[in-house]
Amino acid sequence: MRLGGKVAFITGASRGIGRSIALEFARQGAAIAVGYAREAGKADEVVAEIAGQGGKAVAVASDVRDRAAIRRAFETAAAALGGIDILVNNAGINNRCTFQETTDEDWDRIMTVNLKGPFICSQEVFPHMIKRGGGRIINISSVAGQYHGPKTVHYAVSKAGLNSLTAVVARYGAEHNILVNAVAPGIMLTDQTADELAGPDGAKIVAMTLLKRAGHLSDVAATCVWLASDEQAYVTGQVISVAGGAVL
Ligand code: NAP
Repeated sequence: MRLGGKVAFITGASRGIGRSIALEFARQGAAIAVGYAREAGKADEVVAEIAGQGGKAVAVASDVRDRAAIRRAFETAAAALGGIDILVNNAGINNRCTFQETTDEDWDRIMTVNLKGPFICSQEVFPHMIKRGGGRIINISSVAGQYHGPKTVHYAVSKAGLNSLTAVVARYGAEHNILVNAVAPGIMLTDQTADELAGPDGAKIVAMTLLKRAGHLSDVAATCVWLASDEQAYVTGQVISVAGGAVL
């Protein structure tokens, strides 16, 4: 029970990496707010799974593009679960296109969810964490932010920006005992990557890793548990690559 007594809010926890972090945090004793944008049914399934394994969770509508919705979501979660100690800024989207194909609309859509969303959520969660005497924020970045592409310009820039936001918010969090870090996964098999991995580029992407495999969702969840837990209290402002050595 490495997160016993803690409350975690995870954005975009209805599917993929967020769902896997929610289930692992619950197994480690945290109460979970399962954030979602559209898929209420899927978020409810995650809540039921957590309840089935003896944990406590609530599904909370939390579109990260909407500040008022996020403020309400954090208030709802704090009232239901007793506060918020951990925020995982996981919600993120991508659409693969080349530099020349990327439209203004593509750029704005990706930046709003992947970069402005974590900015809004981090600002709004601060008062909740200050009330608890501190907290942890974990941003789910990507190898694309360190590798600068290779193809999707808006996605890579949004994740590089998220790495910078991680360091900036860590500066402001320090005096409140709020530690802020990012986890940068490489390719993981989720809804976001299923087509890419099954297509002609899939084998090439796996070949770029030193470990010659796509990541398991548990690889990311385990790193997040450690960052969120009291086992570490001196790591802040860092980006931890969970990518099988892909950047090398
Ligand atoms: P996914 O399976 O496509 O799930 C995306 C999640 O984000 C869903 O729960 C979705 O909620 C939520 N979401 C989308 N737009 C949202 C919004 N405006 N507000 C709140 N939630 C929103 O994605 P994933 O592959 O697990 O990716 C999760 C994170 O990991 C992302 O930040 C992604 O960039 C990053 N990442 C993924 C990989 C990979 O290989 N998969 C690699 C590196 C980094 P609804 O279902 O309710 O719409």
